[in-house]
Amino acid sequence: MTTICFIGLGHMGNPMVRNLLKAGHTVKVFDVVPEAMQALKSEGAIPATSPQDAAKEASLIFTMLQTGEQVLKTCLGEQGIFTQLASSALYIDSSSIEIKATQQLHQEAKQRKLGMLDAPVSGGVAGAEAATLTIMVGGEEKDFEQAKPTLELLGKKIVYAGPGGNGQAAKICNNLILGISMIAVCEGFSLAEKLGLDLKKFFEISSNASGQCWSMTHYCPAPGIIDKAPSNQAYQPGFMAKMMLKDLRLAQHAAEQTQALIPLGAEAAELYSLFISQGNGELDFSAIMKFIKGLK
Ligand code: NAD
Repeated sequence: MTTICFIGLGHMGNPMVRNLLKAGHTVKVFDVVPEAMQALKSEGAIPATSPQDAAKEASLIFTMLQTGEQVLKTCLGEQGIFTQLASSALYIDSSSIEIKATQQLHQEAKQRKLGMLDAPVSGGVAGAEAATLTIMVGGEEKDFEQAKPTLELLGKKIVYAGPGGNGQAAKICNNLILGISMIAVCEGFSLAEKLGLDLKKFFEISSNASGQCWSMTHYCPAPGIIDKAPSNQAYQPGFMAKMMLKDLRLAQHAAEQTQALIPLGAEAAELYSLFISQGNGELDFSAIMKFIKGLK
């Protein structure tokens, strides 16, 4: 069995580590929040004292952090994990970050003769727990083949997207759609309620009609429809609203670079920005339902 290093044990990292442990791997873990490491110790994970401590001797190294800045800091510089890795090691970043940062990491990895993949994920916490994530992978194909058996422990659809950066490009485009579709579902359910429709009935109709989408069928922002959705847990995340705004801004930046038009993406970013400015950044992103309904 492989020794795996996993850095970043939040909403997604925690269940991903559990699935690696279940498959019998040795997993060394690190998070800046010690409680996050303790929560996995009883499951068999080995807490490390630093990212470098977690990474040394591992043959596969995952990061699952919030931002590109965090990932760059973890990997590069004198204290970065890249200084610790053997040339046979393969580094996999599953965080959702900007393409420029991921390309810088690919370049640095190449200079050090390290394998690297950008492999962001989709499917939410429920997908991470059930190991049904969709994982979109950028990098060299030989590295993809090496990582695939391990990625299959975490997800059910693993797609090679092309050279380094393409995984992040796919993720940015996917979350652009997600951010817009979540707001669309909120608007539909809010209007349905004001028109006097029973929301369970409306769900039964729209989830079997042309309005159907993941934001509705897996993550419905209206409470009382999908048991496990954050809307039924007082909108506790899940996927924080501030992370959705991060992803929408990544999409805006990518659109500016390529002169693509994303007017609804810009509007979605504006709405999330307003929602977050009212102190809601750490709620689940589906909590924007409250904003759309005009509630505080
Ligand atoms: P999270 O905030 O729950 O977890 C991030 C973890 O990283 C936290 O435990 C934090 O303490 C830790 N951390 C921060 N800086 C660190 C550092 N320098 N060293 C070590 N640990 C550090 O975030 P999440 O929801 O798990 O998301 C992680 C990434 O996955 C993000 O890029 C997000 O956009 C993406 N993502 C999230 C979801 C979701 O549903 N939550 C789904 C798909 C993708």
